[in-house]
Formats: sequence, structure tokens, C-alpha cells
Amino acid sequence: MQPIRMAIIGVGKIARDQHIPAILANPAFQLIAAVSRHATVAGVSNFPSIEALLAAPLAIDAVAICTPPAHHYQAAKLALGHGKHVLLEKPPCTTLAQFDSMVMLAKLADRTLYQTWHSRHAPGVAPAARLLRERRLRRVHVTWKEDVRRWHPGQTWIWQAGGFGVLDPGINALSILTQLIDEPIFARSARLLVPSNCDTPIAAQIEFIGDSGLEISAELDFRHTGTQTWDIELSTDSGPMKLSAGGGVLTVGDERVAPDPAGLAGEYQSIYRRFGQLIATGETEADARPLRLVADILLVASDIAIEPFDPEAA
Ligand code: NAP
Repeated sequence: MQPIRMAIIGVGKIARDQHIPAILANPAFQLIAAVSRHATVAGVSNFPSIEALLAAPLAIDAVAICTPPAHHYQAAKLALGHGKHVLLEKPPCTTLAQFDSMVMLAKLADRTLYQTWHSRHAPGVAPAARLLRERRLRRVHVTWKEDVRRWHPGQTWIWQAGGFGVLDPGINALSILTQLIDEPIFARSARLLVPSNCDTPIAAQIEFIGDSGLEISAELDFRHTGTQTWDIELSTDSGPMKLSAGGGVLTVGDERVAPDPAGLAGEYQSIYRRFGQLIATGETEADARPLRLVADILLVASDIAIEPFDPEAA
């Protein structure tokens, strides 16, 4: 079977770290082109804009959109309008109306839109979901603390309106929660710390409530320089469970059930396998729930202005 001919849109950290290696490692795909205003990818055709790519006499079947979220909608619209399948990085876009429109555009174009949540591919998430079908949750606590200077070096977009701030990694935790918890989740309150030189929060404390009364709390912090922590503690009627390493490790009581040998690389290999399946079956996969929770957090939040953020400070 002919491989799916791919173009990467946006050659930044995630494209280089994960998408390009995952495409090159999967014989079902062939990397044909890249779009970047500044960078080039060796061995493929390079274009300065998605418009230039789509106007070129070059056969591609699909694009992977790896730009900041404020640019996702326009790129997805153009690609679907030119008959390309679309794989979309998280966060999918900046408004719920854009999300709905993208799903509609994919349907009209009869092309696959795969709106990815990479953390759902972490190896602990599926076994945790299976176990939770037989248990009753009593309480959930999320601790998502990382160093923004390490994971988003030099990225100004993350501090601009539509850039999500600490809710950019935080939405990964929400993508896992919405996969694990089989009931509607409502944002109750949120305290967002916003540096005075930024539009978006650097830290957040959030309280949610499930439809059954389940209490869920979350602490997100981008200023964390110690051990990077992406944990979800699940208190259940049969004892504690914990997803750590962003969903890579599942501990049930004292027993490690799913250790994470591959980290993010394993998540992206899984994402491309799924993209190939969706294209083969002509399906779209898109789940707005994590984005809706972010929108609801912003609706109930109180913002607290704090000292300016200095990206260069140690
Ligand atoms: P990044 O390093 O800033 O890369 C984004 C790329 O998009 C840039 O290299 C830039 O390439 C291109 N771009 C096009 N228009 C742009 C604009 N107006 N402003 C800034 N860049 C623009 O960001 P990233 O970390 O790869 O994140 C991209 C997406 O992946 C985000 O949605 C993010 O949430 C997601 N993601 C990131 C990580 C991570 O660890 N960093 C992990 C998982 C998912 P040119 O300047 O060359 O055009």
C-alpha cells in the first residue's frame, strides 16, 4: 500500500522532538514537506507558508499541524479545503466555535480530522480507565508542575492571549481526567496567577465537581524547577491509584502496573498508528471536553496579578 504523504506545518519543539521522528519511524507514512517561516527540514520540500505548500504541484495526502494553538484553525481550514487529512496538535484551537467548525469542515470535505490528546496515549491511562470501571471514585487530585523555561524555551506565544499559559500543559491532565471519569465534570472555582507582563496564567488552583458530587482539585504551576511532576491521585472505594509521569506510570496500591519505558516517543508512535487507522476507515476523531473545561475555568476564574515573568532568569 502507498504510504500516506505528509507535510509538517510548524517546525518547532514538538515537531522536531516527536512528529518528525514518529513519521520517519512508521512505514505507513512518508514525510514529503515542511512549512516554517524560519526553519527547514533536511531531505524534504520546504515552504514558508501553508498557502505556498498547498499551491505547489506536490502530491501530499495529509498535514500535521504543530504551530501554536492560535494558528490551528486557519491552517486546518485551509488544509481540509484542499482535500488533505489533518492531524492536529493540542490544544486544538482557541475557541469552542472554532472546534465545532473544524469538525464540520472535515465532514464537508470528507476527510479525516484527528484532533489529538497525546497524554491519552500514555501507557498508564488505558489500564487506569479499565480498573476504574470496577471501582467507585471518592476524590481526585491533579498536581501538574513543570519548568516553563525547560519545556517552552523562548516561546512568547504561550504568554499571549490565546496561548493558554499553564493551561497548555494543564489541558493534558484534563484530557486524561475526561478519559477516566465517566460523568460530566464542572469547573467550580479557579484562582489564576497571571504575571503582570503576560496575558495568560503561570499557575492555577482549580476546583471541579463531578455530576455525582465527586470532588476534583488541580494545582498547576509553570515555575517548578525541582522534580517535574505530572501526577493524578485517584482515591477509590478499593484503595488508592496514582497516575504519574503524565500518565506513563500507573500505581495501584503499592504495585506499579504500567511503567513507562518510551515516554512521549511512545505516545506519538501510538498517535500516528491511530491516524493511519482513521484515514483507512474514513473517520474523524475529535473530543472537545478538555477544551470546554479550559473555557469553563476561564469563566469561573478570579485572576490575581503577580510579579512579571522573566524568561531569562535562572
Ligand atoms: P514552538 O517550539 O514555538 O513551535 C511552534 C512553531 O510554529 C514555531 O517553530 C514556528 O515556526 C511556527 N509558527 C507559525 N506561526 C507562528 C506564530 N505566529 N508564532 C509562533 N510560532 C509560529 O511550539 P511547540 O512547543 O512545538 O508547540 C506547538 C504545539 O505543540 C502547541 O500547540 C503545544 O501545546 C503542542 N505541544 C508542545 C509540547 C512541548 O513539549 N513543547 C508537547 C506536546 C504538544 P516558524 O517560526 O519557523 O514558522
